[in-house]
Amino acid sequence: LAGSGIALGAHGEILADDRLRTSLADVYAVGDCASFPSARYGERLLVHHWDNALQGPRTVAANILGETPAVYDPVPYFWSEQFGRFVQYAGHHAAADRMVWRGDPAGPSWTVCWLREERLVALLAVGRPRDLAQGRRLIEAGRHMDSEALSEPARPLKDATAD
Ligand SMILES: Cc1cc2nc3c(=O)[nH]c(=O)nc-3n(C[C@H](O)[C@H](O)[C@H](O)COP(=O)(O)OP(=O)(O)OC[C@H]3O[C@@H](n4cnc5c(N)ncnc54)[C@H](O)[C@@H]3O)c2cc1C
Repeated sequence: LAGSGIALGAHGEILADDRLRTSLADVYAVGDCASFPSARYGERLLVHHWDNALQGPRTVAANILGETPAVYDPVPYFWSEQFGRFVQYAGHHAAADRMVWRGDPAGPSWTVCWLREERLVALLAVGRPRDLAQGRRLIEAGRHMDSEALSEPARPLKDATAD
């Protein structure tokens, strides 16, 4: 892309805007090759995961076809299988100020949650898909959490809110 007129970032990635437009008119960028500014996390994100490559094109299609601008600001998500364990992560925890464990990380299934100013910003769930599903919605909604309740693995994550 060098010399194309499309602005590139420090990692050689395409610098897309919040509608996934590049600096060249009518050219959009999605997936591994593009970073985008996230209002949710207050920084530009470069996400190298399958879900990002799946969701971005919906925003691009909406912006090409629609009259109302569609903004791309997802809660990033990935899953993987590692050593027979189902591992899922949602969010972005670079600016988190607190970490709360749900369960024993030496055991087969546990979750770790990251909070910023008592709001859930990210979680990693190992063998606990229900935590991931509920946590992802709580992150999207920006809910305040009760960290004491959050640390009890038997309590559903959605019942550990503080507001
Ligand atoms: C080993 C590995 C394991 C992974 N595991 C996971 C995982 O467990 N979970 C997860 O969420 N994500 C995982 N990922 C990341 C995930 O695969 C990527 O985020 C996703 O495939 C990105 O999709 P994309 O369409 O943006 O890019 P790509 O899938 O890389 O597609 C880009 C396409 O562009 C083509 N291309 C490149 N240059 C040119 C050119 N000049 N002209 C024409 N075509 C070109 C390439 O051949 C390729 O087909 C993994 C990646 C790797 C490499």
